[in-house]
Amino acid sequence: MINIAIDGPAGAGKSTIAKRVAKELSYIYVDTGAMYRAMALYLHRNGIDADDTQRIAAACTGADISIEYRDGEQVVLLGGENVNPYLRTQEVSAMASRSSAVPQVRTRLVELQQELAAARNVVMDGRDIGTVVLPDAQVKIYLTASVEVRARRRFLELQEKGEPAVLEEIAAEIAERDHRDMTREVSPLRQAEDAVLVDTSDMGIDEVADQILKIVREKTA
Ligand code: C5P
Repeated sequence: MINIAIDGPAGAGKSTIAKRVAKELSYIYVDTGAMYRAMALYLHRNGIDADDTQRIAAACTGADISIEYRDGEQVVLLGGENVNPYLRTQEVSAMASRSSAVPQVRTRLVELQQELAAARNVVMDGRDIGTVVLPDAQVKIYLTASVEVRARRRFLELQEKGEPAVLEEIAAEIAERDHRDMTREVSPLRQAEDAVLVDTSDMGIDEVADQILKIVREKTA
């Protein structure tokens, strides 16, 4: 199987790029952030506090999370229910950022991710894919962009949806989330030694996708 790992901080464009690359190559796109979000939704629904590490560690084993593909889209199932519509709320984002630092949560989800990658050609995006989940991936990309650029992209996205947004607040949230991802004890976000660094600060989506496809062709030729 061919495994392509794309890691990087929130807002660097990982999911957009990973989806494009997967489509181009007819591979499956695996969004691992959505799995951490489904776990967070489960914990939230069970009334568990985001800072209660002990309860999170004990409760996470009860979450029945699985993945299906419907019309080429990844559907995350929680106890058989399609929870995709509930994964992008502020509560779930905040819970995911904290609960993903709990080792028991990671152990369960990493196992599921490794099973998926063993069965098919995948483009998988996340924070620890090249370092922990798929250390033997044929292609590893570390996608990043400055905090300012990522905040501006998110700001424009929210504006387009007609949602209120303050650029400085978004930038502060992004910086805080980066800090949590990069300094946590288990599987912190970092570039794998054999990953290719792609800084998208001054690049458009097409350009980034082309560059990554070129890297993939070179490495898998
Ligand atoms: O990428 P996304 O924002 O959807 O990820 C949701 C949360 O899951 C993030 O806060 C991140 O810390 C966590 N995550 C992780 N490891 C991954 C993917 C996501 O810890 N492989």
